[in-house]
Order: sequence, then C-alpha cells, then structure tokens
Amino acid sequence: MDIISHTFTGIAVGTLSATVSNSSWKNKGLIILIGALGGALPDIDAISLWSKFDSTIGSFLGLSHSGREIYFGKFWYSHHAFMHSLITPILIILLISITKTIIRREFKINKILKRIKKNRFLNLAFFLGFLCHLLEDMPTPSSVWSGVNLFFPSSNYIGGFGNIWWWNNYDLVLIIIGVILLNLTINLIPAHYHKIKVRSCISVFVFGITLFLIQINTRTTDFSYNGHTNNYYNYELQSKNIQRDILGENLFEIMTNIDNKIPLNF
Ligand SMILES: [Zn+2]
Repeated sequence: MDIISHTFTGIAVGTLSATVSNSSWKNKGLIILIGALGGALPDIDAISLWSKFDSTIGSFLGLSHSGREIYFGKFWYSHHAFMHSLITPILIILLISITKTIIRREFKINKILKRIKKNRFLNLAFFLGFLCHLLEDMPTPSSVWSGVNLFFPSSNYIGGFGNIWWWNNYDLVLIIIGVILLNLTINLIPAHYHKIKVRSCISVFVFGITLFLIQINTRTTDFSYNGHTNNYYNYELQSKNIQRDILGENLFEIMTNIDNKIPLNF
C-alpha cells in the first residue's frame, strides 16, 4: 500500500491512543503525530530506490549490490524485510528509551521501564501505526517478496494475497479519513466522559476495520502475481476502474485530481 494511506492509518490509531490518554490537546497532538510516524516509517526501506542511492549511501557503505537489487532482493535490509517486521518498532521504542536514560545519566533497567510506561500512549500509537502498516501491506500482490517479513529474523514472509493493487485504493483512504474525523469529533466531548469517549472511539475503529475488510475482499479483480508482471499497467487500470465503480464518477474525479497533484504514489 502507498505511504499516504499508511500515514493516515497511523493518524487514525493515534487518535485512538490520544483518546485513551485523556491528556491535553497538545499531548494528544504529539501522540497523533507519533502514530503517523509509526505508520509511515516501515517504507523508509524504499530509500534504496532513490536515484542517488548508489552514489551516496551505497558507496559510503561499500555495498556490492545496486539500490534496485537491494529493493527487490531478499536481504535483511531489502523492502518488506527487517523494516516490515514486528520486532522493529519494539527495538526502536527500547532504543529511544535507553538513549534518553543515558542522556539523563540514569541508565538503569527500572528507569528504562519507567520511561516506557511514562510514554505509554506515544509508544502505543507508534507501535500500532507501525503494525497497521505491516497488516495493510499483506493484501497487496506477492511480487518478488511474497508478503512482509513479519517475524524477522525468521525467513518467512506473510501476505502477498493480491486482494488490492499497490496504490489508488481511494475507498480505503476515505474510510480511514472517516475514522480520523469521527474520533477527533468524539474528543470534543468533555474529559469527564472519558469511558464513553474511549468506547466510542474503539467502536468507530472496529467499524472502520470491518468496512476496510469488506472492501478489500470484494474487489472484482484478483491482483495476484509473482515476481514481475507484463500485466502491470493493465492491473493498475483495472484497479482504477474498480474505484470508479465504487465511488461514482464525481468522487472518483475529485480523488484522481488530488492523486495527480501529489508527487507520490497514492
Ligand atoms: Zn510498506
């Protein structure tokens, strides 16, 4: 799936964690931002596709493979590998917490655990944003990876089901945006209704997931392919036609116009 949809999903789980935190709007904003970061971060492994990768990072690290070979390969640093595994967000949270205790000269296990607990809503948003990204990549085509390396260092890849195309899943993005808007609205309710707010946000989130699953399982085209395909642009066209059918001509036009203005796959 594309990085914009992943980032919106991170924002959506961020709104959930922010509601549970029952904290100030400033703190909630930070939690939502960290959720967005967690949602986007796994695709940083696509940096090897950057046109200047070989002459900069590749040459600095003395890599014997080109960025393109790395991206489509099965190295631990390839796309859908280590950065698309469950252990990575846990390591990042641990590393940040340990670094903070070292900076404050209080490096002890109980201090690290205390810090993780203190930042639990930020950590939760980051972890859930990251996790949702991995889950959202599973229904995309198998291609050269056959899914994501969810349980790294295991060599098993999970997913590659081909339910949806890599991007232009506008219906899914609209569901995610709907969840964000509803959860933000629920947050306008006064703080002493905390339990009702949390239950409402969880219900909205579960409803969103249900709609999301219905949509990805009712595509009229099977996008499964292994390796590379000559049918690539035909698949993309079919995916767009599915969107036109789902959204109707007007909404489809609006989404396509937005898509065309964004210099990223969306
Ligand atoms: Zn990804």
